[in-house]
Amino acid sequence: VIGVFGGTFDPVHHGHLRTALEVTESLGLDEMRLVPCSVPPHRGRPRAPGALRLGMLEAAVAPEPRFRVDGRELQRPGPSYMYDTLASMRSESATVPLCLVIGSDALRGFESWHRWEEILDLAHLVVVHRPGWELDGSPAGATPGTWARDRRARDAAELRASPGGRLLTCQVTQLDISASTIRGLLAQGRSPRYLLPEAVLAIIRDAGIYATGAAEEAARGR
Ligand code: ATP
Repeated sequence: VIGVFGGTFDPVHHGHLRTALEVTESLGLDEMRLVPCSVPPHRGRPRAPGALRLGMLEAAVAPEPRFRVDGRELQRPGPSYMYDTLASMRSESATVPLCLVIGSDALRGFESWHRWEEILDLAHLVVVHRPGWELDGSPAGATPGTWARDRRARDAAELRASPGGRLLTCQVTQLDISASTIRGLLAQGRSPRYLLPEAVLAIIRDAGIYATGAAEEAARGR
């Protein structure tokens, strides 16, 4: 069973990594793939170039043998649609169960994802709880359609039994860390130490990224 955890990872932090590890262990995954996007379809361009975000991820996953960085979205031109990524993984194995991990914040907008219904044909959806977002993805009352209820799996064994098509919610330790907070700290000349791996911070310092743009980060609204 393969987990797929996509994001901008601008930069990767302990919120991503701890979540990925807890999902790996509670579902008994053989491998968790962290997939940095090139051009995110639903948000502004990342601050750091793809190669640097990839390098930060490589440094972050080095201690964990079950984690792998998958750079295929960085090699594709145009918007990084998760559908294309999963279709490409599915072409490598028709039968391996694929588990797409998304935060309960992202579940709310899932129906606007490119070919979202076909995503459910390619992979299972594993929804992890994010602070402030109920597991149905709806603090604001927008519940996902009946598809989410109809596809609910009771446990990880159900995910192992088929290549995709089910939805499982997964409780993880709540770490209220975001990449935008980290970029904001750096832009103000403050330290984000202990919110992210030391090796990632060393890369950030060497590359001199995120050191400016306090106003821009404030304008991004978080
Ligand atoms: P930004 O602050 O720039 O919006 P982010 O920290 O939310 O970034 P992304 O790379 O956009 O990180 O997130 C990728 C995935 O990781 C999403 O599915 C998101 O829900 C999840 N995620 C991000 N931060 C956390 C966290 N602290 N705990 C659990 N999941 C997280």
